[in-house]
Order: sequence, then C-alpha cells, then structure tokens
Amino acid sequence: MASLLCPSSTAKPGAALFGVQDASGHIQYLDEPIIVDQTFVDTARQQSRAPEERFRFASNCAKTGCGHWSSENVGCSLVGKIVEAMNRKAEATLVSCAIRDRCRWYHQEGGSACANCDEVVRNVRTMELAA
Ligand code: SF4
Repeated sequence: MASLLCPSSTAKPGAALFGVQDASGHIQYLDEPIIVDQTFVDTARQQSRAPEERFRFASNCAKTGCGHWSSENVGCSLVGKIVEAMNRKAEATLVSCAIRDRCRWYHQEGGSACANCDEVVRNVRTMELAA
C-alpha cells in the first residue's frame, strides 16, 4: 500500500493541495488534489499570510521524522489532540475529501478526524494544540 499522507503538510513542490480556507475560516475541500510546483510555492509565499494558513497540503507522513509522531502509539499524536480540543462528533455522512483513502488522520480516528478537520490550518491552530 502507498504510504499514508499527512493532511497538515507544508507547501512544497510535490505536495497535494486539497483544501482552501474560505472567508469564514473553514476549509473547502477540492474535488481533486492539485500537485503544486515550485512556482506555486514561490508565488504563495509572497502573500502576507503563509500558504499553510490559507490552504491545506498533504504529503507523505514522515513518521519518526516528525515531531508529532508517537512511537509509543505508532501514529500521529496531533489528530487525537485536535479531535479532543474541537470535540465535534462524526456525522453519518462525511465531508467529501479527495485524500481520504490515504489520510493518516482518517486511518487513525475515522470520521471523528473528518468532523474536526475543517478549521485546522497549520501554524495557527495545530501549533497551539501541539504545545
Ligand atoms: S481528516 Fe478527513 S477531511 Fe481531514 S484531510 Fe483527512 S480524510 Fe480529509
């Protein structure tokens, strides 16, 4: 099986852009992910807000190479913190998300991860939760 994807990755060439923050601060999920290139990353970084605060990117889970990895639980420790902090129950019908088949958070927490995912933007909420 292909490796699982981190749904809170940074903007870098080869990452999959799969969500865009709307005016209300929620993520609108794209029907198909867009693989971004260096030009996109360079252009996005010229804006006042970091691309990770406006978009959601996915790339291969780094496992032990990431500070959120829990060797004890053999998984990402961040998604559990997000679910606990946001505390939204999973809906019977999940929001449509183009990366679900390979999403690390969904594989660990199922629909609860999706129910609490659409207000997550890297470097803002995720970093507060990680503290
Ligand atoms: S947790 Fe659910 S909604 Fe969020 S990126 Fe993963 S599959 Fe998509």
